[in-house]
Amino acid sequence: MRTQKCHGRVIAALAGCTALVLSVTGTAQAAPHRVAPDRQVLAANDGWGAATTGTTGGAAADPAHVYTVTTWDAFKAALADGGSAPKIIRVKGTIDADGPSCASFAVPGYDFDTYLKTYDPAVWGRTKTLDSEPDDSPEGLRRASAALQDAYIKANVPANTTIVGTGKDAGFRGASLQIKGVDNVIVRNLGFESPLDCFPQWDPTDTADGNWNSEYDSAVVYGSTHVWMDHDTFTDGDHPDSTLPYYYGRIYEQHDGELDIVKGADYVTASWNVFEDHDKTILIGNSDSASTAAVDRGHLKVTFHHNLFANLVERAPRVRFGQVDSYNNHFVAGDGYGYSYGIGMESQLVAEHNAFTLPDGVAAGSILKKWKEAPVTADDNYVNGTPTDLIAVHNAQVPGEILQPGAGWTPTLRTKVDRAKAVPKIVDHCAGAGHLR
Ligand code: CA
Ligand code: CA
Repeated sequence: MRTQKCHGRVIAALAGCTALVLSVTGTAQAAPHRVAPDRQVLAANDGWGAATTGTTGGAAADPAHVYTVTTWDAFKAALADGGSAPKIIRVKGTIDADGPSCASFAVPGYDFDTYLKTYDPAVWGRTKTLDSEPDDSPEGLRRASAALQDAYIKANVPANTTIVGTGKDAGFRGASLQIKGVDNVIVRNLGFESPLDCFPQWDPTDTADGNWNSEYDSAVVYGSTHVWMDHDTFTDGDHPDSTLPYYYGRIYEQHDGELDIVKGADYVTASWNVFEDHDKTILIGNSDSASTAAVDRGHLKVTFHHNLFANLVERAPRVRFGQVDSYNNHFVAGDGYGYSYGIGMESQLVAEHNAFTLPDGVAAGSILKKWKEAPVTADDNYVNGTPTDLIAVHNAQVPGEILQPGAGWTPTLRTKVDRAKAVPKIVDHCAGAGHLR
């Protein structure tokens, strides 16, 4: 049976949960006891999320703190109920989290055409940001409208919570999960279609040409610890960047990240997820600034294993400061591929036993991208089925950005490591939402 073959290795029972054990039907070979997905915890040693106290989410929830939701309002109400008591929120079907329309968030007086006319570089210039524009200006009205969307599509996840999709099609359209300042959260078996920022801000000073900047990651781990993201699918879905318009000659970017991990967050395991059809995918550490360094240094420890990274432009992930372990992932490059791993300030990335599928015209030297001087370990990786030294090939092809081998630490929090060559078959078959039941 396919699903059991996919998931035999990720089952982890919470001690004392025998009342919740399900009997397995169908095959005689299956394990005699099986904990239902909503009560499963991160296995011992399964990545950085398993460090110190481990990640159990809401597995110990009492019956009063188990919720099944089918609407965004009910989901947010369940999150808000019961403080930090362990809770399980089961999500059924795809929940629309983006409101009736962008227009529904616009405050009276906001008009995009007026905004465009006012801040046209031919009128406004390119040296001054819009940040000190007053509340009754087009930018002020944009800000107020954005605040309404922000309040609607963001959902704050409390400590000791498991959010789990039931069945094959559970997830959110346009939600932004905020895992902020809390410990012990599990998010599994959910599809996330990227939120669209209805009110991107024009910044004339961001690059020489200016940029439209948008908010709202599908999920952000912000200063939180012990988070397990497992069997989720992140995608731009029906709204890829290729469908977005251009204004002032710049793409009207309405997406932010798929999963960002920032502000001193620590002990995160991301396993068996699909990250696909997106530009800036995963940011670990969001600034080089001294104040951010003071918060991030020594933290941002994240493990990625058995994830599929498909048709992305960049940041899978881009790393600052953290000891990041990335093993047994499959990367499939498509049109517009930029790079997979961003080597940022004081990062200590270990990338081993991964597989890369690159189309003609994409050079293996672009898998790694050097942003700052930081060492990296990249052993036993395969590109199109061939063992490839990612650092050597990068240094040969990008001689201006020489990377030094040896991240300076050795990951120990790994369970089963598959042969790199077998990774595409295993990961493509089993990663993403809809496999757990
Ligand atoms: Ca909608
Ligand atoms: Ca972000």
